[in-house]
Amino acid sequence: MPEPLMLPPGAPSARDAARAVTLGVLGGGQLGRMFVHAAQTLGFRTVVLDPDPASPAGLVAHRHLCAAYDDVQALDELAAACDAVTTEFENVPAQSLHRLAGVLPVAPSGDAVAVCQHRAREKAHFARSGVRCVPWALLESGADLAGIDASLLPGILKTATLGYDGKGQVRVEQPQDLGAAWAALGRVPCVLERRVALQREISVVLARDRAGRCVHLPLQQNLHRDGILAVTEVPAPDLPGAVAAQALEAAEAVAAALDYVGVLCVEFFLLEDGTLCANEMAPRPHNSGHHSIDACDLSQFDLQVRVLAGLPLVSPRLHSPALMLNLLGDLWFAAGDHTPRTPCWDRVAGLPGAHLHLYGKAEPRRGRKMGHLTITGASVAQARAVAAEAASLLGIAPF
Ligand code: ADP
Ligand code: MG
Repeated sequence: MPEPLMLPPGAPSARDAARAVTLGVLGGGQLGRMFVHAAQTLGFRTVVLDPDPASPAGLVAHRHLCAAYDDVQALDELAAACDAVTTEFENVPAQSLHRLAGVLPVAPSGDAVAVCQHRAREKAHFARSGVRCVPWALLESGADLAGIDASLLPGILKTATLGYDGKGQVRVEQPQDLGAAWAALGRVPCVLERRVALQREISVVLARDRAGRCVHLPLQQNLHRDGILAVTEVPAPDLPGAVAAQALEAAEAVAAALDYVGVLCVEFFLLEDGTLCANEMAPRPHNSGHHSIDACDLSQFDLQVRVLAGLPLVSPRLHSPALMLNLLGDLWFAAGDHTPRTPCWDRVAGLPGAHLHLYGKAEPRRGRKMGHLTITGASVAQARAVAAEAASLLGIAPF
């Protein structure tokens, strides 16, 4: 990989003196959109590669290359237009990242992304890093099915690749149900995890630069509903210091063992017995870090831009307690009604400390992430009270 950039924003590109420094992103979803916003604030030009002509990031970038992630011509165009490239989506083919890395700096690397793309590789990496995860087994064939250890049940069968927001998962209660569960997932490679009793879920979002220096957001506490993140709260209420320290140390070990460069999120389960297990990781900014835009003095997207551009990493400081509510497409529909309506943004926007983010997606669908709402407050109690009011106005279940 060529040398890091270390360029002042707005300067001419080191690769093309005729244009300003340009950062590229593979993937045009909301994470790419917020990356583009952060990059533009510093004066960078941006290019998004995404096959969707109406992608949220493509709509706001200086340039949108509308093509598949493995389109060689589009990748070469992206490489020619940019000074460095990142990804907002872990399912871009690792080969695409490798191709780009032959020409310009790419962070995170294709190898790191390949580990995060596959649940079994990810868990093996946790183990290599000395980080515990819940008991699990790989299920790739009928023979594996017969040999599954019954102590993993009741469990959750998860496709090894391409799962997100609880999709690609089936609960399995008894050994005799396993075959049908695997068939329901298309008999693709899966992992079976023991279902554990959760005291709570937390996540660490960190950024690591090319020299191995690490900074992180304050730890988040996350509430999931139906496998989808619903609410994030910072600071994580009454999180024991020892648990926070253990989660941070584990996340940094996971990043270091990958020689990771970029923003990484590691999700953790805090079990009822007080012990910590890693759940999964994402090689990019994460939904649980969105509060950092409004509640911290540097956001996870600012960190992603800084790593990519070779600018210094500074520890983000939480300046306000905050709750982040995900705005799913469900809010656009009354119960039992299929005609979309507009949620009451006017009332929500009138709440103190309300920061509304909508991703510009034209079509609301149930379970689709359409935006998020961060409530910042002068105190935890105030942020919680206003967030509860916002949830009630929008029809989000109490938390
Ligand atoms: P996704 O990639 O869809 O986010 P996760 O593996 O993170 O998939 O699962 C989504 C949510 O489902 C988790 O945040 C947690 O609430 C619940 N969950 C997943 N695995 C387990 C498990 N082994 N035991 C208990 N709950 C789990
Ligand atoms: Mg998850």
